[in-house]
Amino acid sequence: MFDTALPFWRGNLHTHSTLSDGCLEPAEVCRRYKAEGYDFLALTDHFIGLFNYPIADTVDFRDDSFTTILGAELHSGPMENGELWHILAVGLPADFAPGDAPHFRPVEGMESGPEIAARAVEAGAFVAIAHPQWSGMTMNDARSIEAAHAVETYNHGCAMGCDRADGFHTLDLLLSEGKRLNLIATDDAHFTEPDHFGGWVMVGAEANTPEALLDALKSGHYYSSQGPELRQISWDGKTITVESSAVASVIVQGHGIAAVAKHGTSLTKTEVPLSRFNGSPWIRVSVIDAAGKRAWSNPIWRETA
Ligand SMILES: [Zn+2]
Ligand SMILES: [Zn+2]
Repeated sequence: MFDTALPFWRGNLHTHSTLSDGCLEPAEVCRRYKAEGYDFLALTDHFIGLFNYPIADTVDFRDDSFTTILGAELHSGPMENGELWHILAVGLPADFAPGDAPHFRPVEGMESGPEIAARAVEAGAFVAIAHPQWSGMTMNDARSIEAAHAVETYNHGCAMGCDRADGFHTLDLLLSEGKRLNLIATDDAHFTEPDHFGGWVMVGAEANTPEALLDALKSGHYYSSQGPELRQISWDGKTITVESSAVASVIVQGHGIAAVAKHGTSLTKTEVPLSRFNGSPWIRVSVIDAAGKRAWSNPIWRETA
């Protein structure tokens, strides 16, 4: 599933700074991500009136080995539980127009979540449904965001701050409804607790530029990780072969209860039979290393598998 001629670039797509409710200045957030070996970062502050609708100008923090993508976490419209939507938009223009979201509570007449997500996609952004479990999102909510490219399936800040990191349940049900969505792991770092350097994407692109990274994100040419590397995933009609850094488990999931796990020691090339997935229109792959760290592929649709 990967073009191995392309390099992979490590990046975090969800981060906050003092421009909203994070506790570090944008320059220091960028410095820390670069120092920790990241190739790129999207600073995505809360796009609400309380913070003057910030889209962090991180252009000055780019250099030969580190780049940034402009973005924001968008908030507009109520979900079914009455909370305001959280929608991640990476690749926004600096002049993306504010809606009417004065603070973190819905107000009468504001743009809906699906509307602001569609407006972000039209403006060129890669859009993800943020932290479904943390938000208390229903399936009606999730399926209403038709413009999204991905579901945020692992949010490290939500893992550390309230043990509600999950988005895989929402993603898998959407996939089984036929929605062609990918997945992302992120930090959602505010640097107010150990909420950073725990989940990222590895993007296969010709160059570490905002344009090339965005194109690759939108086309799904990336995977998500907490540590392990996915190097190649290939398949024929009967078997899927997963090449990775050394891991202890390789697990393939599909529609409903379909799943097959292979366990071992220092696995780097693992074959998993696909017969269990004959009724599944999609499959995806997780690997888990000896320390319990995971990496996840995007979904693979079975007409190609
Ligand atoms: Zn959020
Ligand atoms: Zn956030």
